[in-house]
Amino acid sequence: MPSPQPAKRWSLARRFLLISLTVVLTQSLASLLITRELRQIFLRGFLEKKLDRQAIAPLKDVNDQLDQLTAEQAKRCCTIQDYQRFLKPLRLYDGKVGMIVGNGGLASTRGSHVLFSQTHLHALADRAVASPRGFAMVENDEHEAVAVKAIKLPGGAATGHFVYLRPLYSRPLIHAQMMIKLASELTLILLTTAILIIAARRIFKPIRSISRELSEIELNTLQAATLSTAGAPVELLPILQEFNQMVERLQLSASNQKQFASTISHEFRTPLTVISGFIQSVLNRGESLAEQQRNALGIANQEVLRLNRMLSDLLDLSRADNHQLSIRREPFDLMPSLEHGLRLARAAHTNPIRDNLKGLPALEVIGDPDRLVQCISNLIGNAVKYSTPDSPISLEVRPNPKTVRLIVEDQGQGIPADQLERIFERFTRAEGVSIPKGQSSSGLGLSIVQMLMEAMGGTVTVRSTVGEGSQFSLELPLITQA
Ligand code: ADP
Repeated sequence: MPSPQPAKRWSLARRFLLISLTVVLTQSLASLLITRELRQIFLRGFLEKKLDRQAIAPLKDVNDQLDQLTAEQAKRCCTIQDYQRFLKPLRLYDGKVGMIVGNGGLASTRGSHVLFSQTHLHALADRAVASPRGFAMVENDEHEAVAVKAIKLPGGAATGHFVYLRPLYSRPLIHAQMMIKLASELTLILLTTAILIIAARRIFKPIRSISRELSEIELNTLQAATLSTAGAPVELLPILQEFNQMVERLQLSASNQKQFASTISHEFRTPLTVISGFIQSVLNRGESLAEQQRNALGIANQEVLRLNRMLSDLLDLSRADNHQLSIRREPFDLMPSLEHGLRLARAAHTNPIRDNLKGLPALEVIGDPDRLVQCISNLIGNAVKYSTPDSPISLEVRPNPKTVRLIVEDQGQGIPADQLERIFERFTRAEGVSIPKGQSSSGLGLSIVQMLMEAMGGTVTVRSTVGEGSQFSLELPLITQA
């Protein structure tokens, strides 16, 4: 079954940015709409009044002429010719137009046809007559706009409406203003976004630095794991204080655990040594023992020794954690230590162990000779453990100008590449490497080798190929090469 997709998480910074941007965008949009609406209302009110005033004079002229009609003429009024006659005296400039529209048709002031077609004039006049209060603002495709005002002339439908028209030269200007407003709003949004991003970075800086500090905390560094509260934001202060108190509790518990492990290891080793001693003495003097009893005691002795070794490892680690392990860093002659290590290994294992010690010059290195022997024994022990019984092992010494490299190589199982870093962790075994029958594995050996080598100012590294074998290298500082 496919595992469910993890829920998408949003960082605080992202939420903060999104909310702020939504606010800014809404506010800008609202401001644009309000400005547009207000301008429209203002323009309408302003223009309507202006047109009312401007239309008074020409309307009066038309009305005067209507008043002068005789009863006979009024009865026939009004034909298109009448309209034209009424409009004749009107002199309108700057694109302004006067019209009379009614049952007789549409007549307009002189020059109007240069500006507008008859159909256009008709459309504009109809629009004005149909609009509430007779006022309308009309815009054409070229963004040219006109304002029209229709006023009913006294008399019936045949008398019609007087329609006053004036161009709105300011209309493109209004558009330009709108565009400027839009551009300024956009600039404002971009600017606000930039400021918000910088602000978010600054606001979340303490959280980032806390998470950096947290990522560096390990069990070994618990002692210095408390987080600094200086300069921390008020909101984070309770969390930091809680965390620091928790670290103090953990420190106490970790130190109790280490103390416990150290005491147990120490206390167990003495009785185990005594038990092993007694078994050994019985085995040494036990000619009368039956074969079966001898074998059983031999196994018991091996197990006791194994337990003792494990306790030594635990004790070493626990002392190292408590900074109580004293590892020397002093000059010593390398060859005798290596010869000693090889003697121990050859006595303990049946595998052939080759070396290149013969013919090498005396090498003086810095470190702890006993601990180096412990490391070599550990690596040779592993080489034997993870190889077939008679598979050859080798210890090679390679002097370099400033260091000396000790290489323990086997032709055993090899270690998968993705496990190479893990094997130096405590209680960790490589996945894919099997433990041979009758052997035990605690996952402690390599972590101790690494801890000892680092304490001596050296290093341990590994190269391995599955099915071909492994190569563990110890490197120590070299003083002289005779
Ligand atoms: P242990 O051998 O007791 O498990 P170590 O810390 O010495 O613990 O080794 C850790 C793991 O590394 C082992 O469990 C094993 O999987 C792997 N390993 C160590 N040395 C070798 C080797 N020479 N060949 C193959 N695997 C090895």
